[in-house]
Amino acid sequence: MSLLHNNIRALEMVSDLDTKALISVFGTKEPVSGCVTASVWNTDTERRKESLLEKNPAGVVAGLKILTLLSGAQAAVIVTAAEGVESELEAAARQVNLTLSLEKRADLVKFEHRNDLLVTLDEAASYAACLCGEEPGLLIAVDDGELQELPPETLVTDLVPVACKAVLTDHRFYAPAELTGLSLGDLGSRSGVLRVLTEKDCLVDLAKKEISILREKSCGRCTFCREGLFQHSVIAEDLSSGRLKPPALDLARELADAMFVSTSCSLGEDAGNPMASLLRAFPQEVEAHARRRECPAGICTAFITFYIDPAKCLGSHDCVRSCPVHAIDVKPGFTSMIDSFDCIKCGSCLTACTQSAIVRVSGKARIPDRPARLKDSSMEETQVESTPEKREGGSRRKRSFARPAGASAPVKSEAPVAPPSDPVSEAVPTPAPSVAPMPTRPASQPLVTRASGSKRKHSYAKPIKPE
Ligand code: SF4
Ligand code: SF4
Ligand code: SF4
Repeated sequence: MSLLHNNIRALEMVSDLDTKALISVFGTKEPVSGCVTASVWNTDTERRKESLLEKNPAGVVAGLKILTLLSGAQAAVIVTAAEGVESELEAAARQVNLTLSLEKRADLVKFEHRNDLLVTLDEAASYAACLCGEEPGLLIAVDDGELQELPPETLVTDLVPVACKAVLTDHRFYAPAELTGLSLGDLGSRSGVLRVLTEKDCLVDLAKKEISILREKSCGRCTFCREGLFQHSVIAEDLSSGRLKPPALDLARELADAMFVSTSCSLGEDAGNPMASLLRAFPQEVEAHARRRECPAGICTAFITFYIDPAKCLGSHDCVRSCPVHAIDVKPGFTSMIDSFDCIKCGSCLTACTQSAIVRVSGKARIPDRPARLKDSSMEETQVESTPEKREGGSRRKRSFARPAGASAPVKSEAPVAPPSDPVSEAVPTPAPSVAPMPTRPASQPLVTRASGSKRKHSYAKPIKPE
């Protein structure tokens, strides 16, 4: 096991061997007219295996030298975006008399290397390890842990907990049942990174993110890669927002199959993985989002509702101050209320409330539809700093009970409020105000019917000015 250590011995051995001796060890390779080009898989968006250029430059260069001799290639190319690896690689290439160039880019464009022998960096380093008589392993990392070299027969379940919800690798979700008895060799992870997912992870949300990453990486030349990823992104978005029409799932499956066979590089082959593996291995997760309109992990905000439990609310208004979109209604003397229409589900109020009065639910829930009277009357005069005028556009709500700091709260009392005492007004009795009669619609005035599209059926014609 020497992939992660600088294999200087292989570098020394390869300079002493000729092509014949190498063929006797490795067999022949199909001749190529171009170069031997090494990189990580385009689909490997984490690019953890690029660290081989830093850890084992001698092994990578020795492997490339072996492959050039076996295939008859004139030179070798390494496609990488890694920085600070040039000097070590060039020194190693000089030692074995290899013409090596570095292509500084993140992705290998297959069309530009159509005459080349394409290999991965770990594959090149494996040739060097074999030359030294070693059995190369597979490079694997679990979550953000270090990359380690493990025998191919290692069981995946030895690395990840059996009780996890899923394992994500190469943009594909695996259910724990699929991993039982599966070895790393059978899994064949290209990136080597296994992401362990728990019940707190929403697979639909993760599929959406994976598709988005792949869309950014796709060069767009292949129709099925470009359009398939676009369609999958729309379907995943609809799934996470509860707008999905079930026939779209069949389309997603068919597209994933077509993407696998009709694209030109590894990215296109894996582009359908997020959606295809989600539909295949996690139908219950899809069902919950598509039919029951709930997110089991409580991640998809379209299915989440925040409300205030009137039994716990003390009217302190800490939540109101924390709300970035002023979605919490305040009425003096009453518990606060969240306006679900305006709420952007950021969760700020949840952390601001010290009484744990704010509840976050996913799926259907019974939500109080009106505020309750506060038990503690001292809270009634509490002022809030939030201003409804700051509300961003798009709100259909016409009014809020919240008022600016410093403004007096309306006092709602049973008895009429006495005016301030004034010696003049006390001496002279105030005449009763004359009340102008309200304008009324004459019987001859017809009701005006609204144009179609409005939910309101009728509206009165223009108000009539009083005589
Ligand atoms: S499969 Fe995708 S990334 Fe690869 S060449 Fe085709 S369009 Fe580009
Ligand atoms: S912070 Fe909590 S207790 Fe205070 S008004 Fe908001 S929900 Fe009620
Ligand atoms: S979740 Fe965010 S937007 Fe919604 S009421 Fe609470 S603070 Fe306001």
